[in-house]
Amino acid sequence: MARNQTLKLNDGNTIPQLGFGVWQVDADVAEDVVAKALQIGYRHIDTAKIYGNEEGVGRAIANSGIPREELFVTTKLWNEDQGYESTLEAVDKSLERLGLDYVDLYLIHWSQPEKGKYLDTWKAFQEIKASGKARSIGVSNFTEKALQDVLDTGVVPAAHQIELHPYFNQRAMREIDARHGIVTEAWSPLGQGKADLQDATVQEIARAHGATPAQVVIAWHLAIGNVVFPKSVTPERIQENWDAQDLTLSQEEVARIDALTRDDGRIGPDPADFND
Ligand code: NDP
Repeated sequence: MARNQTLKLNDGNTIPQLGFGVWQVDADVAEDVVAKALQIGYRHIDTAKIYGNEEGVGRAIANSGIPREELFVTTKLWNEDQGYESTLEAVDKSLERLGLDYVDLYLIHWSQPEKGKYLDTWKAFQEIKASGKARSIGVSNFTEKALQDVLDTGVVPAAHQIELHPYFNQRAMREIDARHGIVTEAWSPLGQGKADLQDATVQEIARAHGATPAQVVIAWHLAIGNVVFPKSVTPERIQENWDAQDLTLSQEEVARIDALTRDDGRIGPDPADFND
């Protein structure tokens, strides 16, 4: 697979398929690891207000010397900021922390179905896009119903970011996204570096290619059309994950990894129950 391959979003913009995630990266570490990722070649960074590291990400971007238009930066609206006015205020604060005039993608972080604010929030998101503060807008952790409610507004999200890894492959939600032209983004793509990477099938495929389990899992995501942004604070792994773009799996290998999904594979909260 070519390096830095992009996917087309339904609003005409493009997104680099492999990016770099920074959840659980301390603010003081974020600047260094994002600088490292940019130096290696990553051009897509996935952060969020709640990660508390937007400033560090912004400093790494500012110091990189890379033209802004070559970068793709995502941040997310945190739950407490949902609602029309509060969303409009929150995006300005995120941009200020990032030191940017716009983000490439702004996401509603969780649907929070019991709060019932995601449609007001989505209305504000449309204004944010119209004002140029976000080039694309999308959602994350939306239930099927919440996604349908958003679709009923007539403004289709560009992307839907969901938990997705071999042990929890989200086939049903990926099919819904695809039917509406929404790009699926995979969070915790390595299953947080635990059971998915220890799986015997993943390890066998890795050995056959002289690759690592993480590379096999990333290559699987890329092969099935996901956007993916593995997180690491370890320089060798940041490079290793980037090099996964050189690995092409056979259709049979992709199918074997597809078959690993399990009913108890979810690691994080279920969007239907997460209303905090
Ligand atoms: P990942 O699946 O990316 O796994 C990260 C873990 O795997 C870390 O412990 C890391 O260790 C380890 N790791 C990374 N590379 C390798 C490798 N090559 N070999 C072995 N272990 C490795 O988990 P995340 O939960 O961080 O998900 C990625 C990104 O998705 C987040 O950073 C965030 O941007 C996004 N996300 C979004 C959510 C949402 O609600 N929208 C929720 C969760 C994540 P180490 O760092 O020590 O090297």
